[in-house]
Amino acid sequence: MPQKIAVLGAGTMGAGIAQLAAQSGLDVLMYDIKSELVERGVANIKSALQGRVDKGKLASEDMDASLERLSTTTNRDDAAGADVIIEAAPEDLALKKEIFGSLSALCSANTILATNTSSLSVTSIASAAQRPEQVAGMHFFNPAPVMPLVEIIAGSRTSPDVVQELYQLARTMDKTPVRAADMPGFIVNRVARPFYGEALKILGEGSAGVTQVDEAMRAAGFRMGPFELMDFIGIDVNFAVTRSVHDAFFGEPRYRPQPIQQRMVEAGTLGRKSGKGFYSYENGDKGEARRTAIAHIQHKRSNPIVPGNLSQDFIAKSGIELGNEAEGQAEIIARILAMIINEAAFAIGEGVASVRDIDIAMRLGTNYPKGPLRWADEIGLDTVYAILKNLQETLGEERYRPAPLLWQLVTSGVIGDVVGEGFHSPGEKGMV
Ligand code: NAD
Repeated sequence: MPQKIAVLGAGTMGAGIAQLAAQSGLDVLMYDIKSELVERGVANIKSALQGRVDKGKLASEDMDASLERLSTTTNRDDAAGADVIIEAAPEDLALKKEIFGSLSALCSANTILATNTSSLSVTSIASAAQRPEQVAGMHFFNPAPVMPLVEIIAGSRTSPDVVQELYQLARTMDKTPVRAADMPGFIVNRVARPFYGEALKILGEGSAGVTQVDEAMRAAGFRMGPFELMDFIGIDVNFAVTRSVHDAFFGEPRYRPQPIQQRMVEAGTLGRKSGKGFYSYENGDKGEARRTAIAHIQHKRSNPIVPGNLSQDFIAKSGIELGNEAEGQAEIIARILAMIINEAAFAIGEGVASVRDIDIAMRLGTNYPKGPLRWADEIGLDTVYAILKNLQETLGEERYRPAPLLWQLVTSGVIGDVVGEGFHSPGEKGMV
């Protein structure tokens, strides 16, 4: 088991990962390019740990012990002595390749090099290293000390032993690891795309307004609606991820960005951080009550999005309870949820991850109320399929085509809990 970890980058993620490793009893060396950046990282770690002590979640002796295990450097070569090097430098392929190329020349043959990249190809980063088989992705979520999920990503040449070691390391850090193939967006950033993309599509075509969609998705059990979540994440950040996944899949229509979002980025209305996004946040007050929706994207129409009977059937089987006044909510939920399930089905079919890992990842990485594939089994794969086919026909767009795996399961009668076989069933035709 690795004892010495080096973290490259002392920014948001680097400092969070270094804190987590130190708290987990590992010796940590944190590197950044300048001493003031390293010091800022250490100050952030101290204040995060102090916050936990103040809340009674951490004993002050444990905080001191964690800080004793943390050392810092501005000489990158020092990292070569670590068992595992976790890179959390800016999201720039050329920069990451340079880091992996130079450092791997100094490391021992057993040193594991992990990248925390969210959107770059692990295989491409690994190609610059002397031993690409020792390189993998270890994707933490922000804030790293708090978020329970870690995606472990095998590049094309990564050794299975390296994946296993990082999996165990994540466990040592008290995280829940999942395995993902090196495909754009890995699990979470890919399967979550329709939550934003379909909401923007609905808004863009004038079928429903911002608050209408947000209220519907909250009624379905999501902690935040897509628009309030985009405001929280930063509309520019969300747009960049969407563009990168769209580009990485060579223009696949399911990921096509919406012009509304681009205009908002151009206008500088980036969400909470700029005071205005899909909602406005007055006087820096980010409380819910003071939020007011922006007028021009607030319009409410009642164009049928999905036929009422199909969406009512979907909701009835989903376990979601809607109030009587929930106008149009069933259609909105059915459409967005069916697209998330479809995306998960594409991901399984393409070998990105297992059914189990996708459901775990979506619950822990994005706080979804239920794993999308568990939900699909409850709703019925035939019902999900019918919604997608209907959208494909009525809107005439390829983005709604059902995943080949979904089609396969439905046509072979594997339609979920009602027949005891679905995505999750270990039966003859089902899978886990
Ligand atoms: P950040 O800008 O907060 O931190 C990056 C740090 O890297 C900075 O302190 C910077 O000085 C330092 N740095 C610059 N050049 C470097 C070099 N040559 N070697 C080492 N460090 C260098 O960025 P972040 O949000 O911490 O993101 C870091 C990585 O983690 C990116 O790849 C990002 O995609 C990924 N990531 C970010 C999040 C998130 O929500 N912020 C979540 C998961 C993954």
